[in-house]
Amino acid sequence: MSEFEGRTAVITGASRGLGAALAEDFSLRGMRLGLCSRSKPVLADGEGVVAARVDVRDEKAVADFVRQVEARFGKIDLWINNAGVLDPIGPLRDLELGAFREHIDVNLSGVFIGTRAYVRHLRARDGEGVLINISSGAAWHGYAGWSAYCAGKAGVDRLTECVQLEERDHGLRAYAVAPGVIDTAMQERIRSCSPDLFPEVERFLEMKREGNFNTPAFVARELLALAFDSKRRSDEVVVCLPDEKA
Ligand code: NAP
Repeated sequence: MSEFEGRTAVITGASRGLGAALAEDFSLRGMRLGLCSRSKPVLADGEGVVAARVDVRDEKAVADFVRQVEARFGKIDLWINNAGVLDPIGPLRDLELGAFREHIDVNLSGVFIGTRAYVRHLRARDGEGVLINISSGAAWHGYAGWSAYCAGKAGVDRLTECVQLEERDHGLRAYAVAPGVIDTAMQERIRSCSPDLFPEVERFLEMKREGNFNTPAFVARELLALAFDSKRRSDEVVVCLPDEKA
């Protein structure tokens, strides 16, 4: 099948969008998968797949999910914290605290929960593993209307750097990866915004007209190379995938 056959990967947020596409791509390469999301993951539970409905904010549910994956496949070679949300969008002055907290709970605390679960898994096995936290270019500079998203993704980058320092002598390679712009439901949501909510919306409408996206297949290849190709390893924790069409 492929050089990746028999390796085990966990992907959170695997019901649609990038996470679902990664799951399908990795499955075709013969990888064993642990998939979770609140709605049903794209691949059903069965041979080579542990699929569970899990909210990444729920630490007990995540711990149960890890136990299921461990029971079926043993060691997890690659863990991808992909689950994420974009809302609330709009000027900070208009945002409800509850909506901001809910966002950070998914995009940052959810990544904390997944990262901790994976580090504990590796520590219990004394084995090597790769953690990829899906970040964004929004981690590096602010966008008006995206205060929650930018703050959460910047937090993901720093959290990933911290855990890499803590665990590098124990076999972990951790990356926070900005995957480029991929045409998923999240992009549809961006394009649906009025300029009042998101002033840069026109740039994203233009990207759609130009078809200027990274394909999920490209992102899948890049992530697997980062994880498993020793020639493609990055010394940097924070990684930005190139534009596929550049
Ligand atoms: P998407 O199409 O909206 O998919 C988001 C995924 O996250 C879904 O599977 C969703 O499943 C899951 N999810 C959301 N909240 C969850 C929760 N509380 N618990 C478990 N799963 C949850 O978005 P996407 O574009 O594929 O984004 C995937 C990742 O890439 C995100 O981290 C996003 O920030 C990042 N990213 C995307 C782009 C882009 O251009 N698309 C660019 C940069 C970074 P359920 O709703 O079923 O739970």
